[in-house]
Amino acid sequence: MTRHGGTRYDATRDELADVLVGEPRYRLDQVWDGLYAQLADPADITNLPKQLRAELDVALPPALTHVTESISDDGETIKFLWELDGGSRVETVLMLYPGRATVCVSSQAGCAMGCGFCATGQAGFTRHLTVGEIVEQVVRAAQRAKGAGRRVSNIVFMGMGEPMANLDTVWAATERFHGDLGLSARHITISTVGLVPGIRSMTGRELPVNLAVSLHAANDTLRDELVPINRRYPIADLMDACEDYLDAKHRRVSFEWAMIDGVNDRDRDARELAALCRRLSPHAHVNLIPLNPTPGYPTTGSTLRRVHEFRDLLESLGANATVRRNRGTDIDAACGQLAAGQPVALTRTR
Ligand code: SAH
Ligand code: SF4
Repeated sequence: MTRHGGTRYDATRDELADVLVGEPRYRLDQVWDGLYAQLADPADITNLPKQLRAELDVALPPALTHVTESISDDGETIKFLWELDGGSRVETVLMLYPGRATVCVSSQAGCAMGCGFCATGQAGFTRHLTVGEIVEQVVRAAQRAKGAGRRVSNIVFMGMGEPMANLDTVWAATERFHGDLGLSARHITISTVGLVPGIRSMTGRELPVNLAVSLHAANDTLRDELVPINRRYPIADLMDACEDYLDAKHRRVSFEWAMIDGVNDRDRDARELAALCRRLSPHAHVNLIPLNPTPGYPTTGSTLRRVHEFRDLLESLGANATVRRNRGTDIDAACGQLAAGQPVALTRTR
């Protein structure tokens, strides 16, 4: 056996074949099946000889060291904090809903995009995650889901980092989710702050995954302020890229809108947003959540009453919108505003 150099979910099939040099050929299938179909650690792939398991465990080390986790009161939301090689920390969230189990993954340690309201943005950028670090987040969450008799059905790139700033790696991980973990592309969502070249690049790639755009403002003056990267990729260019993505993939595009009291929750914001939604065909779907306050951004989220009014206004203007829950034990609070070491909104830590 040779060492791969990367971690257990970094290795491609071909690289794994190299690791298994000198072993019978069928071992490759057994190990790959063990890692992906059984979600087993190499040491637990029981149809392998004991000696081989032990060797594999050393040759293919894990990427993630478990630091801590938080569990919501109802037990249905679990947030994991991991330490990576080099010491940075990232989070993963597993959400067990009645009909589906969703994992929210991180794509970078920190983020360079500098959105002022976002805890990850406030922390700055540390580094890109590797394929192995991204895939292993899902596998570790899926192991936990399996323990509860559940299968992971959906993956959202809404954890820490900007997936489109690390797109080749995110895409390689997505292909692993699709081809090896058996998830449908329709159940995988990549969320972006609006990196137009990334959306365009995704348009040319094969899998029809869902695209979510963190819009938060529907005019350039306000969006320049809330989402600084808008100065480079203004709304008109972003909408063109979304339109082309829709044409190519026939998938729904959704707009994420974190509602900030008095900033982007006014009637005129709803009118501007509805106009953008109507421009796309099929129309974009809006997800509304009240902004969760973070230490670096003292402004508060809109009241729930205003969130519902805003939703109704959007609907009356021909745009579809859903209010996502926030706060308390619900995960929409934790997902997307992860700051390593500061569990947000979840109550029990162990
Ligand atoms: N960087 C990507 C992926 C992260 S997704 C992106 O921005 O789309 C995280 C989601 O949570 C984004 O929609 C983000 O704008 C939102 N978010 C960040 N901070 C938040 C906060 N304090 N309250 C509510 N939503 C927030
Ligand atoms: Fe980065 Fe997304 Fe946070 Fe903006 S909202 S700083 S792009 S993680």
